[in-house]
Amino acid sequence: MTILAQAKGKTALVTGASRGIGRALAKGLADAGFDVAITDLSSQAAELDVTKAEVEAAGRKAYLYTMDVSKKAEIEETVASLLKDAGGIDVLINNAGILKPSLLQDLDEASWDAHFDINAKGVLMMCQAVLPHMRAKRSGRVINIASIAGRQGVPTQGHYAATKATVITLTRVLAQEVGMDGVTVNAICPGIILTEMGKNNLGSEAAIRHWEEVAALKRLGAPEDIIGPVLFFASDLSAFVTGQALNVDGGIYYH
Ligand code: NAP
Repeated sequence: MTILAQAKGKTALVTGASRGIGRALAKGLADAGFDVAITDLSSQAAELDVTKAEVEAAGRKAYLYTMDVSKKAEIEETVASLLKDAGGIDVLINNAGILKPSLLQDLDEASWDAHFDINAKGVLMMCQAVLPHMRAKRSGRVINIASIAGRQGVPTQGHYAATKATVITLTRVLAQEVGMDGVTVNAICPGIILTEMGKNNLGSEAAIRHWEEVAALKRLGAPEDIIGPVLFFASDLSAFVTGQALNVDGGIYYH
């Protein structure tokens, strides 16, 4: 069965969908036949409208909600609204995240807390809100956007790397806790993707050239490079795969 046939009538929820990887995933899921719910901070409402138009241009239904993934009450309100509006949630993509580089020695407590609140606790709280619904209907796909940083980490990203390692661990354990109810939980670990976050993180053309040279495929990623792996985890092509973290990095990291 094609992904298009499997996606018919199904709804995918994408957090952090106003730009970058989240926007590309919303459009990619719509192109593959999913209706798509998009969420981001209220400050991103105008950009979310652009993503919504892209989903609708693909001929699919788009649902738009503003929500902060670090606020439990906002998550619960959004999930309740989506269940009412769309009738169900079949795929959850935890994509929202932040990266504000700092040496660990200089890192302030507020930045540590913000990274964990958004990148790690946000993923947990989204899963806590959506999983009861998926388990009750005995099917669902959770896809967490982690990072190759979660495998090792590099200087100035220690706190970010720690959040992404947490996401990989949450993925492994959640998969074991919900597998008996027909729900799979997997993670994707992007390498360097040239979004706002990716470009800010690299900082210079010289750094871009360096990492292009390191990558086996001799290029860095585009947001669209994440679509195929997400469709794999969102569909029955991955029916017997759970608790895994897949590097999508053009060949930068091998563990
Ligand atoms: P991006 O361009 O910065 O997009 C991230 C989105 O998340 C933004 O729209 C951002 O809104 C939103 N967001 C931030 N805090 C939020 C919150 N509290 N609640 C809801 N939404 C929030 O980043 P990206 O490169 O597309 O990254 C997407 C995901 O991939 C992240 O989890 C990131 O860690 C991961 N990743 C990225 C790379 C890379 O190289 N780009 C590599 C590995 C993993 P604002 O615009 O208001 O901040």
